[in-house]
Amino acid sequence: NEKALILGANVDIVDFGQALQRIKQLIKAGTPSHIITLNAEILYQAQDNEDLLNVINAADLVTPDGIGIVWAGKKLGYPFLERVTGIDLLYLICEEAAQESWKIYMLGAAPNVAETAAKQLTQKYPGLKICGCHDGYFASDETDQIIEDIKKSQPDILFVALGAPKQEFWIKEHKDALSVPVLIGVGGSFDVVAG
Ligand code: UDP
Repeated sequence: NEKALILGANVDIVDFGQALQRIKQLIKAGTPSHIITLNAEILYQAQDNEDLLNVINAADLVTPDGIGIVWAGKKLGYPFLERVTGIDLLYLICEEAAQESWKIYMLGAAPNVAETAAKQLTQKYPGLKICGCHDGYFASDETDQIIEDIKKSQPDILFVALGAPKQEFWIKEHKDALSVPVLIGVGGSFDVVAG
């Protein structure tokens, strides 16, 4: 895809369909890939946080999540079509996962929220395989154990709902150890799905 340069961040010029195509390719390729749905709040934070800007620019796919990003991109002359938000991308990935037999692991949110969200999703998309869940309130010395649990369940996709930008840094730090093809930060999406 083509990329737009907005306030120092490279944002992929993709709509939902193109984002999903890219995700398919990344799963096929199998190398750990980081996907970020970028909103204006995070891009604003990145203006005086070089580490955050570096994480964004090292990601494999950065979608325009948020009307501010789409607006700024269009203003700069880039052909953005629509917002590609975390929650909508999560639903789209689950729909595709049910058909493609991709396995999904859900990490984040308060205890039991991921499990409740997983139930909702498997009801909505019959055949969907959620291979594991873990809440997002763990001590750093539990991280290794969580990584082992994720690895053992062999997901194709890891949803990380620790809030932005915590989840982006967590993914960056652990993606190589996890050996999961697609890792995506989804913010407060599990709470939304769980209802
Ligand atoms: N969260 C978590 N661990 C933390 C901090 C936050 O699992 O240490 C979860 C929180 O329960 C919520 C999500 O991360 O489900 C953050 O949601 P929020 O809407 O604040 O984040 P955003 O969508 O703005 O990134």
